[in-house]
Amino acid sequence: MTAAGKDNYDVIIAGGGIVGLTLANALKASGLRIAVIEQYPAPPVSEDIDLRVSAINPASLAVFARCGITPDSLSRCCGFYEMQVWDSTGAGQIHFDAAESGLETLGYIIENSVLQGALLAALSPTEHISYLCPQRITGISWQDDGHRVQLDSGQLLRCKLLVAADGANSRLRQLANIDYQRSSYQQQGIVCTVNTEQPHQHTAWQCFLPSGPLAFLPLASGQCSIVWSLDESLVAATLALDDHAFSRALERAFDYRLGAVTAVSERRAFPLSHGHVGRYVKSGLALVGDAAHTIHPLAGQGANLGIMDAAVLADVITEARAAGRQWWALHTLRQYERARRGDNRLMETAMSGFKQLFGNASPWLSSLRNGGLTVVDHLPVLKSLLMKHAMGAGRH
Ligand SMILES: Cc1cc2nc3c(=O)[nH]c(=O)nc-3n(C[C@H](O)[C@H](O)[C@H](O)COP(=O)(O)OP(=O)(O)OC[C@H]3O[C@@H](n4cnc5c(N)ncnc54)[C@H](O)[C@@H]3O)c2cc1C
Repeated sequence: MTAAGKDNYDVIIAGGGIVGLTLANALKASGLRIAVIEQYPAPPVSEDIDLRVSAINPASLAVFARCGITPDSLSRCCGFYEMQVWDSTGAGQIHFDAAESGLETLGYIIENSVLQGALLAALSPTEHISYLCPQRITGISWQDDGHRVQLDSGQLLRCKLLVAADGANSRLRQLANIDYQRSSYQQQGIVCTVNTEQPHQHTAWQCFLPSGPLAFLPLASGQCSIVWSLDESLVAATLALDDHAFSRALERAFDYRLGAVTAVSERRAFPLSHGHVGRYVKSGLALVGDAAHTIHPLAGQGANLGIMDAAVLADVITEARAAGRQWWALHTLRQYERARRGDNRLMETAMSGFKQLFGNASPWLSSLRNGGLTVVDHLPVLKSLLMKHAMGAGRH
């Protein structure tokens, strides 16, 4: 990988987050000249646990394995083998176990900085891939012989295919006039690292409260990373609590499932919304990851969907190129859109449905969902199907 390349590329990827770097890795063997443009230096991996972690499912792990990244090669990550989900307003609960479905694991909890660092390192020996950072894309123009991409440094680049992997507030999406419907959940997700009195048992824990879902995700350090979704009106006051009061509120909300809880890191809050673009592609342009779709983080699927976008787009490009077709042309890129839109839309709708069903205080809905959870827990075939879908089975 070079620090800067000449100004002509085959592919320019805007955004060096998890999804943009996955795409660059998936295209590594293609020989295409690629530039990844990222506005901020990658967050360093330090002894402190990153506040942002992702539950990475087996389908995404398989994509990473093809890029030479395995859980063993990461500096830190934590496999989880079970999932406990329950409704705080009743007795309904459901338990997923990897072994019951013949799976080795349900996935790994990986700090975003650890994953980004590994993806970046995996690009390092690649001469035909340039990582331009810190650089920000400020303008694009469409011309017959390729696209012009303006950087804030004044540099002007050219490429056949421009990929927007620049996140939920995608600048490229705006510059390309692609319609995007976003709805706010009027909630934010508070994240922090906690110690728990009882061990996490390599289990991902999810409690549905009327105020929103609360997840405890297991970390290799024995601690948990939490995501606590709360109405916007409650977020400032909850962030302002001292550590003791915050920990008491958290363990209470979590039904004391892991005993006493001690918050041990700073806390940050992320706005929660869902949205989808009207179209994923134009001639010479494709959107991937959060630039194309965002969902509620309650099932830990956002990054997984984006990783799958990247893997499918890389395959479509590689196959078209091998067949001597115009791999950047609209008809080729539409294959990517057709392959990914349905899956992404289904997950977005399912997450919004869960959020509404579990966030509703109506007593009959409470008994319906509690009964539903318990019924599904006793139907091994349906449970296994649900789990395999969440694991990304058959997605790529
Ligand atoms: C609280 C929370 C918990 C979550 N937990 C999970 C989970 O457990 N599992 C899961 O799968 N998903 C999870 N998600 C979702 C997941 O974090 C996102 O889906 C994922 O990070 C999106 O990755 P991305 O690369 O598409 O976008 P981003 O991570 O937003 O990366 C975009 C990159 O583009 C860069 N950029 C933006 N504009 C420009 C520009 N003009 N020029 C140059 N660079 C630019 C940005 O600096 C950034 O690095 C969670 C989300 C939240 C909010």
